[in-house]
Amino acid sequence: MITPDHITPTTCPYCGVGCNLELHVKDDYIYKVTSPFDSVVNQGNLCVKGRFGYDFIYHPKRVTTPLIRKTPQTAGQRTQAFDRSEWREASWDEALDTIAERLVEIYRRDGSEAMAVYCCAKATNEDNYLLQKMYRSFFRTNNVDHCTRLCHAGSVVALQQAIASSAMSNTAAEVIHSDCFIVTGSNTTENHPIIALQMIAAVEQYGAKMIVVDPRRMELCDFAELWLPLKPGTNVPVFTAMAHVIIQEGLVDREFVDQRTEGYAEFARSVEKFTPEYAESVSGVDRELIIQAAHMYATAERGAIYWGMGISQLSHGTASALSLIHLAFLTGHIGRQGTGLNPLRGQNNVQGTSDMGCMPYHYPGYMPVDDPQNAAKWETAWNIEPGGLNQKRGLTTTEILSNAHPGGVRSLYIMGENPMMSEPNLNLTRHHMQQLEFIIAQDLFINESGAFADVFLPATSWAEKDGTFTNTDRRVQRVRQAIAPRGGARPDWQILCDLAKRIEARLERQRTAYWDYSHPREILAEMGGVVPDYAGVTYERIDQVGLQVPVWDEAHPGTPFLFAETFPSGRGKFHPLEYVPVVEQPDDEYPFILVTGRVLEHWHGGTMTRHSKLDELYPEARVEISPPDATLAGITDGQAVRVSSRRGSIVLRATVTGKTSAGAVFIPFHFAEAAANLLTIDALDPQAKIPEYKACAVKIEPAGVNELAKPEAVLRRGRH
Ligand code: SF4
Repeated sequence: MITPDHITPTTCPYCGVGCNLELHVKDDYIYKVTSPFDSVVNQGNLCVKGRFGYDFIYHPKRVTTPLIRKTPQTAGQRTQAFDRSEWREASWDEALDTIAERLVEIYRRDGSEAMAVYCCAKATNEDNYLLQKMYRSFFRTNNVDHCTRLCHAGSVVALQQAIASSAMSNTAAEVIHSDCFIVTGSNTTENHPIIALQMIAAVEQYGAKMIVVDPRRMELCDFAELWLPLKPGTNVPVFTAMAHVIIQEGLVDREFVDQRTEGYAEFARSVEKFTPEYAESVSGVDRELIIQAAHMYATAERGAIYWGMGISQLSHGTASALSLIHLAFLTGHIGRQGTGLNPLRGQNNVQGTSDMGCMPYHYPGYMPVDDPQNAAKWETAWNIEPGGLNQKRGLTTTEILSNAHPGGVRSLYIMGENPMMSEPNLNLTRHHMQQLEFIIAQDLFINESGAFADVFLPATSWAEKDGTFTNTDRRVQRVRQAIAPRGGARPDWQILCDLAKRIEARLERQRTAYWDYSHPREILAEMGGVVPDYAGVTYERIDQVGLQVPVWDEAHPGTPFLFAETFPSGRGKFHPLEYVPVVEQPDDEYPFILVTGRVLEHWHGGTMTRHSKLDELYPEARVEISPPDATLAGITDGQAVRVSSRRGSIVLRATVTGKTSAGAVFIPFHFAEAAANLLTIDALDPQAKIPEYKACAVKIEPAGVNELAKPEAVLRRGRH
């Protein structure tokens, strides 16, 4: 029995649930993770990532000293360097001076348009606030974005259009107060495991009815009253047909519609053509199931909707999310406990990173950049001359790379992201990365994107620094340093402050924003001084239990659910929709629709989990295919296959499983050896600019075992 030197309470670094952790430390080494049973978020429950996935901190490949490429890189000729022999170690002074010199040189030569930054949804609020502040205040650019673009941008734009607020409206654990809830486009059991437990408890212990709408037969279907197995990309006809039924059968909450919404009459006319019969013809869902689902949700006392990226990661992701919002408007299932519109945010701090303004259209607090009054607020806060901030909307993540050419973006700062795994159509992404003139990577490992960098800055993990994360239900929670930084690694916020002072000196701007913080609490206070939602959040107040924003002042208790009286937009706006099919339909040459996503044991591009023992549980990519499709294609379980799209090809083993509907196949995107995003299409939603990860056409052929990257790999999880 080990007696810990100390037990440090903190927040999980993986998914948006934001589970509370206790890191048990002996001799500056974390040897165990537990969770307090009285945690309001997770009641002592943890999934395999939170419980065991911390060992990446000690992985021998972790970089703990600044690195500079030995061979100077040039635009168009840029190569990847994974091997440490291609880098030389540098002092922090040399690395930061090199970066400041090159960034200022490029900015002076090519201006704001040449500068771009990827912020990081895994880093703290304070880290992200500083990085966007650095680029906006010094380089006067709004080319600032992060991976929210790639996961929930469709939901964010839809919610902004409908109610002018884009966060989850309710607390995740409130699901036990719902009579009926819809789960759609979310494999919650694998992606938000603790919320899935709460959903199952709502059904089994509290008698709620769950409706699952998803192409895959996920574990939650075992607990659902109804499962609507729709074809990928047919959300709009299915949910709008539910709206049609609700209207036709007089199930509309007229009082709510009259008092809280606008545009109902036009919307009601627009849904006339979305009959259940029509929805069945395009989605494959039995019309009776659509009618039953509409009845069940509309007649509930408290109905809620939870959705994931199966809704937003489409070239019509905005319309897809709007079709859900309409259901809540029609039934009045919002603004009360146990109701609501709940996009389940992916990464641990994607909500906070968005709140911190790490997006090209918004300053912190979702203040549009093209409003001079907003710019003036931040010019005052950052001590910038009036009119100094750029009020032109910036480029999104995918646009930043597609603009990597002379006259466009020339330099890219990547803090903790991995576009070479997460962007669609990776062969094209590789080409774009090669065109950049200067790349900085700030991370723990040299991942597929960091391998393209000129300078690598070693950051600390979440267990080696202080800060805050904001989870999927808007709860701001503490992140606490449990162990000393490994080697020469430094917290992101300290790296950024030291770099900022060097840039400031070279730009000869001596009195711009403040960069002399002694602790992250001062950074949060600076941001909260301008952003009303965070005005009442202090480190002291969230020391024991987090607060759910908005928190208007230091006496405000936080906001478990939103919109009790009104929406930020005043009335909620209906938006008549059309059904727009996915861009690439299956055909004779490419007969399957590929859906991409995550598995329980891994996280995104795999920078952390693939340097963890978790990788031994799930060491290789698999393509999931339905039994009838496998029979037709002559494929057996475990066989090596080649999956190809019009953009690329990968070899991996097949898993034949009834989880996948006929005509669709599923591949997780965590594995560089068989990167699913080599196949995906770079078609974007025109409003949200989110790529269509959830549908592209592919073909599957048998391949040789010798073509597998890791033929010896054994999948140990045993739960297909
Ligand atoms: S459910 Fe999410 S937050 Fe909780 S332990 Fe698992 S990965 Fe961490």
